[in-house]
Amino acid sequence: MSACSINQWQLTPPVVLCICLSVGVILLARWVSRQQAFPGRNSFVLLQLTVLWWMGAAALEMAALAPDCKVLWAQMAWPGIAGVPSFWAVFLWQYVNSSQRPLRAGSIALLLLGPVLIWLLALSNPWHQLFYGPGTQPLSAEQGAPIHYDHGVLFMAAAAYMYVLMLYCLWLVLRAAWFSEGVHRRHYLAFVLVTCVPWVANISYVVFGVTLFGFDPTPFCFAFTVVAFAWLILGVRLFDLLPVARHLLVEVLPDPVLVVDGQGRVVEANPVALQLAGLRGSWRGLSLQHWPVFGDPLCKAMGTSTDSLAQLELACGTAFFEVRLRNIERPVKGGMQRLGQMIYLRDVTARHQSEVNLAAALALSEERLSTISELHEQLREQALHDPLTGLYNRRYLAEFFEREQSRALRDRLPLALALIDLDHFKQLNDSYGHLAGDEVLRAVAQHLEMNLRSTDAVFRIGGEEFLLILPGVDAAEATQRVESLREQLASVRLPTRAGALQVTLSAGLALWPEHGHALDELLQAADAALYQAKHAGRNRVQTASCDTSRPAAEL
Ligand code: GH3
Ligand code: MG
Ligand code: MG
Repeated sequence: MSACSINQWQLTPPVVLCICLSVGVILLARWVSRQQAFPGRNSFVLLQLTVLWWMGAAALEMAALAPDCKVLWAQMAWPGIAGVPSFWAVFLWQYVNSSQRPLRAGSIALLLLGPVLIWLLALSNPWHQLFYGPGTQPLSAEQGAPIHYDHGVLFMAAAAYMYVLMLYCLWLVLRAAWFSEGVHRRHYLAFVLVTCVPWVANISYVVFGVTLFGFDPTPFCFAFTVVAFAWLILGVRLFDLLPVARHLLVEVLPDPVLVVDGQGRVVEANPVALQLAGLRGSWRGLSLQHWPVFGDPLCKAMGTSTDSLAQLELACGTAFFEVRLRNIERPVKGGMQRLGQMIYLRDVTARHQSEVNLAAALALSEERLSTISELHEQLREQALHDPLTGLYNRRYLAEFFEREQSRALRDRLPLALALIDLDHFKQLNDSYGHLAGDEVLRAVAQHLEMNLRSTDAVFRIGGEEFLLILPGVDAAEATQRVESLREQLASVRLPTRAGALQVTLSAGLALWPEHGHALDELLQAADAALYQAKHAGRNRVQTASCDTSRPAAEL
């Protein structure tokens, strides 16, 4: 090796090209590592370093003059050659799966195992000749002529190892292209195209012996591929621009947003969510259940909901939130795999408060409305009733009569009216006082009410004048019932403050339709009959006659 490093070099144009490409790859790796993070960035940088190793070894091989030295640099290239597809596969996996997790040291060591093993096999070739066979010779006798490599079994095994990895890479991008659409699909298809370039170069070299400057063209193609990928990722910024924009959007949202993984651990939270929970520092990985302030009620509200899109309400102290859950899924064979959930809480306290206020106002106005209706009913009742006796007054008379008249007309039944006037009531007032007279009026009203059927009605239509309406009752029955009322009243003594008093009544009966059709006509007929009863000596019942008419003189 030391012999190869002293004074036996030639700086040919291909060597200069290789050096330029190596410098280009170094600058590219430096630039990529300083760019905004994108999925698989670290693996991409490691991939560039393996390409650089390969390019460097290729440059040294081309620059070396001695055939042995050329073979030695070819052997030294193997960690880079085998490392390229390994890191290529890891980078693509991370990129298409949007994995931001950096590679662990253990994983890197594992990935290096294959390339190191191949390297050792290549370096130990002088002892076994299974990597490069005995046919490995310079192409010509010219000094520094390129080497023709006689590919041995181990070389083929190493190539197969790398082809498996390359096939995996191809499958990864094809699958990603299949599951995506539009501009994203075209992006992945460009990946497929770019990935194929070193493939074609390598197969041409291994199978058909195609060379570039008498050398394996694959590392040159990989250099091109790495530049193309860097442009696709960072130049087009298709995949990292949107996530960054979305991330910024979530950051500035005025409402709390959480991302929970499949195990229910919070892996992302925007500043508002952290502020609401009063959290700072290390919170990532905390289970949602133990998330301060709203974690527990949120878990309870979520229950076992597996809806891809669900909406819940959450009461949290005095605050109210509308919770929207969105499953984070990715397509897998035969369906979707749930990776976690995005939880978006919208503070609806103000809306909720106004809903509560509105409901309270509505309840209050309903209560007031019912009070008003009740009062209205009471007023109506009061307006229709006489305050002294509690009987219906004249205001209700017309309405009641009209209804009963229609019913009588429909059912072809008679209707009787009895106009009652107490006898010598003025005298009673004068003798015992107006208050005692009032008590007598109340007692008479009670007496009349108690002796009526449920279909009958009694009205106080004047000072000591009452009107009975007896539906479905003919002249004989009306006479008999009013007679009975009269007799009973005459036989009782009514308790008053002035002692038990006796009072009699006179009544005039009118029948519908014999004595008239309208209420006024019937009242007039009953009044005329009452006049007759008074005239005939009082304390009696008189039925109207068809030609009954009251004389001009009043009772
Ligand atoms: P008659 O037998 O002819 O009917 O004689 P009367 O004294 O009853 O005569 P009239 O019917 O004309 O008198 C009615 C009296 O009823 C006059 C008034 O003092 C009395 N009165 C009217 N309204 C009330 C009332 O609300 N309370 C009391 N205590 N008396 C009343
Ligand atoms: Mg009177
Ligand atoms: Mg009277």
